[in-house]
Amino acid sequence: MKKGLGLQAKFSISYIAIIVAVLLLMNTYPLTVSEDLTFRSKGRTLQDSVSVMVTALSGLEELNEENVASAMTLVEETGISRILVTDAAGCILYDTRETDSALGRYAFYTEIVQALRGYDVFYSEFAGSAFISRAASPVIYRSQTIGAVYAYEYDKEQAAILESLQITLLTISAMVLVFAVLLGMILSRVLTHRFGILADAMKKMRAGSYSHRAEVGGHDEIAELASEFNSLADRLQTTEDARRRFVSDASHELKTPLAGIRLLSDSILQTENMDAGTVREFVGDIGHEAERLTRITENLLRLTRLDSEIAEKPVPTAITPVIERAVRMLRLVAEERKVALSYHIDREGVVLANEDDLHQIVYNLAENAIKYNRPEGYVRIELSGGETECVLTVTDNGIGIPEEDLPRIFDRFYRVDKMRSRAYGGTGLGLSIVSDTVRRCGGRIKAERREGGGSVFTVCLPRCEEGGEKS
Ligand code: ADP
Repeated sequence: MKKGLGLQAKFSISYIAIIVAVLLLMNTYPLTVSEDLTFRSKGRTLQDSVSVMVTALSGLEELNEENVASAMTLVEETGISRILVTDAAGCILYDTRETDSALGRYAFYTEIVQALRGYDVFYSEFAGSAFISRAASPVIYRSQTIGAVYAYEYDKEQAAILESLQITLLTISAMVLVFAVLLGMILSRVLTHRFGILADAMKKMRAGSYSHRAEVGGHDEIAELASEFNSLADRLQTTEDARRRFVSDASHELKTPLAGIRLLSDSILQTENMDAGTVREFVGDIGHEAERLTRITENLLRLTRLDSEIAEKPVPTAITPVIERAVRMLRLVAEERKVALSYHIDREGVVLANEDDLHQIVYNLAENAIKYNRPEGYVRIELSGGETECVLTVTDNGIGIPEEDLPRIFDRFYRVDKMRSRAYGGTGLGLSIVSDTVRRCGGRIKAERREGGGSVFTVCLPRCEEGGEKS
């Protein structure tokens, strides 16, 4: 698989990107706002000062160096770096700057030109380490522009305050950034480490180590994911164990009749002058072993089909005809073993199932009850049930099943008495086929010991309305 950017890198990048964005905002927004506020307050004070000067000059008919100078003495100019007053032609009549005074020269500042055209002008900028502001207004006498007043302010103090604010913000930002990067790295490491444990467990499981579990602590989503993974692994391990056991049991069961066939055929081949009667007997035994092999393989096939859930679509099927057929088929066997086989229908029942499946359930249970019985014993099949369920019971007073074997009775190849089962042609698969079939029909099965000896098998299947499919 192509390895892209790791989770840790992605997490750190996005975390750091957010922090950087916040820091950028923190470093620009307050500065822009305070710059703007300073510009506005400067603009107002400078323009106010200019208009005070204009008012002082506005009584004059025409402007010259003397009358401007005397008028300007009345004006209190605070904090203004330079003031110029020009006549209508732009010639400077008054200049507050003493060294390199521009008196008598023409002023070509844009602000003055604009003011002479009749406009009030204000301009301000933040140049490096100082706020520079300029304001100019026309001096008007009887609707005639007779000159202009120009004020220039160079403020270092305010700029220094802003600059120190900027430095403070930058220092704080740098500290926050270092802290955030460290914290981000630690957090992402912790996070990805736990994901790593999970991924590692998955890899191990893929490689076949079903017993490995992901040890992730905590109570968050990753811990939940790990616990889900662990329960999945538990299930897989159980399934895998069952599969292994099944394969080994199946091969063992198949090996026994095959070994028998081999032994018998070798005996026939190696024994010279074997009499015809013995040969017939041996061949007959070979036939029996072959029959057993067929029965085992048939049952195995049936189980595989049940496992793979491949099944015909179930239809509403009445149980009574199935019971009647099974009883007909087993009547002879029961008579041979001197077992009384009977059935009783307490309440008719229709279930959603295949007839073949139902037959398998009834036939296997009844056949077992006959097989594991004793002479003069009985087998009783009953059908009853309530509104929602059909209940089928198969009771016998035979040899019974020991308490400790009951929980394992439905396991594949499990037999209480191997010799007896084999003698009756048993494969140890009958009850597991029954329980798998019952489960597939949506029902449940249980085996109990009957009081006074024998066993009771109870199968509950969901009842279905006759003629209509169950919803
Ligand atoms: P088998 O082919 O050996 O009969 P089953 O799966 O049908 O295999 O049954 C498993 C085992 O359960 C049997 O070998 C037998 O020991 C026991 N068993 C099943 N039904 C009965 C019963 N009605 N009474 C006593 N033992 C039973």
